[in-house]
Amino acid sequence: MGGTLRNITISRNGTGWHVSFGVATGAEPAPPLDRPGCGVDFGVAASAYVSTEERPRLMPRTLSTSEQARLKHLEQKKARQIAYAKKHQGGRYSNRLRRTIEQIAKIEARQANRRRDFTHKLTTDLAKNHGYVGIEDLSVRNMTKSAKGTAEQPGSKVRAKAGLNRSVLDNCPGERRRQLDYKCRMYGSELRVVPAFHTSNTCGNPDCGRVDPKSRPGCGRVFVCVHCGFEDDADHNAAVEIHSRARRTGGSVINSTRRRPSASSPGQVRRRMRETQPPVPGGNGNRSR
Ligand SMILES: [Zn+2]
Repeated sequence: MGGTLRNITISRNGTGWHVSFGVATGAEPAPPLDRPGCGVDFGVAASAYVSTEERPRLMPRTLSTSEQARLKHLEQKKARQIAYAKKHQGGRYSNRLRRTIEQIAKIEARQANRRRDFTHKLTTDLAKNHGYVGIEDLSVRNMTKSAKGTAEQPGSKVRAKAGLNRSVLDNCPGERRRQLDYKCRMYGSELRVVPAFHTSNTCGNPDCGRVDPKSRPGCGRVFVCVHCGFEDDADHNAAVEIHSRARRTGGSVINSTRRRPSASSPGQVRRRMRETQPPVPGGNGNRSR
């Protein structure tokens, strides 16, 4: 396996059984890449804007039209079968209902694989082709988001959703950051995490750089600086700001893969996470490299 076996994980999803091996290879980080850096703004779950590019990178559709139709059909079937089971069988699941549930799980697992594929290709490309990669530190925002969700919805529902639909986490900020963290070390790039405050309200014009919420009219797709008139796609403007924060390595970078040694034990990871940030869902899986 190319190193010491640390752990084995056996799991099952809609497509079958899986086994993964955690191996300590003892590999040293690659020598620094001699390439320009970049900043990345991760928009909604399905896109990323790289500061040095003209267009956002969009996640392709994860289900075809016919797969979507089939999924809808199966979900209706499931609802019908559950209603029937409640009425006639005291809520006991029939074999037919179980089969429907399995078929739904299979489609959702396929969808999750495609999402995961997008995230992996994106983070590999970023780490392989840039001297450093700047991203926002979103742990604070994440926490408020999930806390809000818990307050509005019953706790059980939130937990059920997290457990059943783990697929959503395949492209979450914590997962992207986890992948960038180890891939940057692997390919000789450097992950620089910058503070997230006002990145979307800061003017990307190097001669201006003023912060004003009014520059985002209606929080739309366009950024128009109210001070200098600079215009840009809002997400690209944010990526440029993240890039410039990552470039000034001094006080503006709060975490860098070059500054901190790689975490070596799960205990260390947990301790570090307690010290530096609240736990991110899906973001603490440092062990499964
Ligand atoms: Zn400006």
